[in-house]
Amino acid sequence: MTEDLARELQLLREFGFTHLDIPTTDNRQPTTGLLDDFRQIVITCEKCRLAKSRTQVVFGVGNPNADLMFIGEAPGRDEDIQGEPFVGRAGQLLTDIIKAMKLTRDDVYIANVVKCRPPENRNPEQDELDACRPHIKRQIEIIQPRVIVTLGRFALQSLTEKGFAISDVRGKWLDYNGIRVMPTYHPAYLLRTPSAKKEVWEDMKKVMAELEQ
Ligand code: URA
Ligand code: SF4
Repeated sequence: MTEDLARELQLLREFGFTHLDIPTTDNRQPTTGLLDDFRQIVITCEKCRLAKSRTQVVFGVGNPNADLMFIGEAPGRDEDIQGEPFVGRAGQLLTDIIKAMKLTRDDVYIANVVKCRPPENRNPEQDELDACRPHIKRQIEIIQPRVIVTLGRFALQSLTEKGFAISDVRGKWLDYNGIRVMPTYHPAYLLRTPSAKKEVWEDMKKVMAELEQ
């Protein structure tokens, strides 16, 4: 690759070029465009029954070039109203976890495996998870994070398409298409079981160490 480049530059020099006009726009622009284009498609999605009851599609927020992605289950009431993932009580806790990692919500990318709110916050059904899965897969493909943290059972199982039990795999690295995946508890679970916060923090320390590499 470098050799090819050197050869090409040598050739240009021989052609009489004395300087190159290299555009100064940073390479984040194209990714932002891809993700924005994809958002425009997804916000009109009607591939499952949740389209009927939602206020709006909750696509995702954050840095389109994030190294770290948090993936949750589905929007709740606050998210459905505001159009942004993890803005309710569980969301506040996730935001605190992100801050404790010395990051902000703008540094990372946050999305769900199901993009429309299930009525009364019921669990997503299998056909809804299946219908929505291509959306999160494409988001990951565009963003290309180095690490994904799955929050809770549905995010883990839907992304990996495996029947993992959280209790078996929590805190252990998994692989998704060459991306490191750290399964951890859902923040809503932590609201009910504050004693589990220390395990999540252990998991986040592994994530921070991985990102520092
Ligand atoms: N719980 C989730 O899994 N996702 C949200 O966006 C909010 C709460
Ligand atoms: Fe489409 Fe997903 Fe919303 Fe179902 S939940 S309508 S698949 S965006």
